[in-house]
Amino acid sequence: MFRRPPAVHWLLNHPQLREDVSVLGRETVKEVIRRRLAELRQRREDLPEPEALVAELHRHLARWRRPSYPAVINATGVLIHTNLGRSPRLTAASEGYLALELELETGQRGERLAPVREKLCRYFGAEDALVVTNNAAALLLLLAAHARGREVIVSRGELIEIGGSFRLPEVMKEAGAILVEVGCTNRTHLADYRKAITPNTCAILHVHRSNFALTGFVTNPQVAELAHLARQAGVALWVDQGSGCHVDLRPFGLNPEPTVSQLLNAGADVVMFSGDKLLAGPQAGILVGKAQTLAPLRHHPLRRALRPDKAALVTLAATLDAYLAGDLTRVPFYALLAQKPEELRRRARCLAGRLSREGVPAKVVPTRAVVGGGTTPGQTLPSWAVALPEDAALARQLRLGNPPVVARQEQGLLLLDLRAVFPHQDRLLLTAVVSSWHHPAR
Ligand SMILES: *Cc1c(COP(=O)(O)O)cnc(C)c1O
Repeated sequence: MFRRPPAVHWLLNHPQLREDVSVLGRETVKEVIRRRLAELRQRREDLPEPEALVAELHRHLARWRRPSYPAVINATGVLIHTNLGRSPRLTAASEGYLALELELETGQRGERLAPVREKLCRYFGAEDALVVTNNAAALLLLLAAHARGREVIVSRGELIEIGGSFRLPEVMKEAGAILVEVGCTNRTHLADYRKAITPNTCAILHVHRSNFALTGFVTNPQVAELAHLARQAGVALWVDQGSGCHVDLRPFGLNPEPTVSQLLNAGADVVMFSGDKLLAGPQAGILVGKAQTLAPLRHHPLRRALRPDKAALVTLAATLDAYLAGDLTRVPFYALLAQKPEELRRRARCLAGRLSREGVPAKVVPTRAVVGGGTTPGQTLPSWAVALPEDAALARQLRLGNPPVVARQEQGLLLLDLRAVFPHQDRLLLTAVVSSWHHPAR
C-alpha cells in the first residue's frame, strides 16, 4: 500500500543532507529524520519519491539551521521592545581574550569593574558606582546588604509589578526587608513618610512607576523633600529609577523626567536603574551614589552571584564613552529616537513606491510610536509606516523570513513602522517584504 521509506543511513549520506549533518551533527539530523518519517507514517500519507523526500527533509531542517537568536528588523514602532532584547545592541565586544582583570601597565591583577565604575562616576557626577546583572538584582543586593530585618518605607502608589515576576513587595520580602506601606494609591504626603519612621527604619525607597501613569487627583512629595526628611531622620533615601533616564527627553518630543544626576543632586543616597532601558546599553543593573552605601554591597556574599558578564561590561563601557564624548547618536537607540518625522515619511514613501512596483499593495500612513520597555508610560512619538493589508499569514511569513521582520497589526492593517528600523535596513526590509508577499508558504 505504502512506499517503504529509504534507509536512514542512505538519507544521512545524501549530498543534499550532508550539509545539514555538517552544521547540526549526525545525531540531530538522524533524530529529525526519524521523527519526520514517523509523522508521515502516522498520517498514513503516501511517502514521496526518495529525492522529493530528501528535499522536504532539507526544507524541514532549515528551521533547525536557523540561528537561535536571529537579528530581526523591528518594524513594530516600539523602540525598547522587551521581546526583541530591549535597546538595540551596540556591538563592541571582540572575539577571544580581553584584559578583564589585568592591569597591563603593572601586570597585576585588576578590578574588573574599575573602568566602568570610573566612567559611571564621571558621567553621573557620583561618588561611587556598582554594576550587577540587572536592576532587579541591584535592588535585591541593596536591600540584602542594608535592610535585612529592617523597615523600608514605600508609597502605596509605587508598589509596582514590572512583568516577568518582578513585584516590588516580593523582592523586598526575598531580601528580608520589612515593607512599610504609606499613603494611598493616588496620594502620598511627606507627613505620611514622616509618621512611618521608627527606630528600625532603614530607608525610604522611591520607585519610578515605569509602565503606568497616574493622572488626576495625584500627589507625591518631590525627591528633594524626601531627601531632606531622610537626612533629618537619619535614614537613607534610595531611588529605584528603573528607566535610566540620563538626558533631557524634550528635544525628542517627550516629557522631561528626572535624570539620574538630578536625582543624586536632589539628595538621593543611591539611584539604581537598568542598563538596557534609556541608558540604551547592555542588560545590567547600575547603582550610583554614596561610597558609604555601596561599600557593603561590594563585599556582600550575593555580589558574586550577581556579577555581570564581560560582554556586558565591554558594551557598557563603549556606551558610556559615547555619552562622555557628547555623542548621543553613536548609541543605536538614540540614532533611532533622533530621527525626524519628515525623514521617516520620506523613507516610507520610497519603500511604498518600490513595493508597489514589485506588485505589493502598500501605502504610507502616519503613526504613533512608543519608547516602551517600562519607560515614558503613556507617551508617544510621531512616526510613519508602510501599511499592507492585514493578514496574519503574511505577518507570520515576515517573521520567518531572512532577516525576520516583526510588524505591528493595527486597525485592519499590517504596519511596518519605520521608527525603530535603521535606515541601512530599508533595502533588506524591501526584499524581505517582496519575497514574503510573492512566496507565501501559507
Ligand atoms: C525595569 C525596572 C526594574 C527591573 O529592571 P531589570 O533591569 O529588568 O531587572 C525594576 N524597577 C523599575 C522601577 C523598573 O523600571
